[in-house]
Amino acid sequence: MINWPYIQQRYQYLLQEMYELVPAKKWQITPQSVQLTSHKTKYGMADVHGVVFINQAFIGSNTIHLLEATLRHELAHLCVGVHHGHDAQFKSCARLFKANFGEHLIEETRVINEAIGYKYKLYATLDNNDEILFRRVHRKHAKYLKYKPRLFSYLTIKGQKVLSFRYE
Ligand SMILES: [Zn+2]
Repeated sequence: MINWPYIQQRYQYLLQEMYELVPAKKWQITPQSVQLTSHKTKYGMADVHGVVFINQAFIGSNTIHLLEATLRHELAHLCVGVHHGHDAQFKSCARLFKANFGEHLIEETRVINEAIGYKYKLYATLDNNDEILFRRVHRKHAKYLKYKPRLFSYLTIKGQKVLSFRYE
């Protein structure tokens, strides 16, 4: 199972491997450290100060291949410089670093997306009695929990009056 020491160890190990592909002095940004992030959508990030961020959702999971690809991807960002985004130069470096998010990662991607994703679904029942998935949310809000339509005060979705909300 992935824990924090494992992430740090893989980061150090991969960094040495990448330095053999591109010597340290040729990197646009010098890698400084790896840290955790609680970002709501991204697996990882890299910043201009050389910090690689890994989503804390990896911890406690077994998604080692996705973690590996993410670390390689973020190191490629540092190597070419984060200002390159995902352009051609970045892509060729990512290929060199074997940052491959291919089909072999579909299952692990699903696991992590679930772990970092939204906790609840908010459904709305409309005036025409249709129930629709209104949005995915991280928290329950009183506005919807206590919602009651009044004569002149109610919410609408797609022009339909909302009769009630429920979380799932
Ligand atoms: Zn990226």
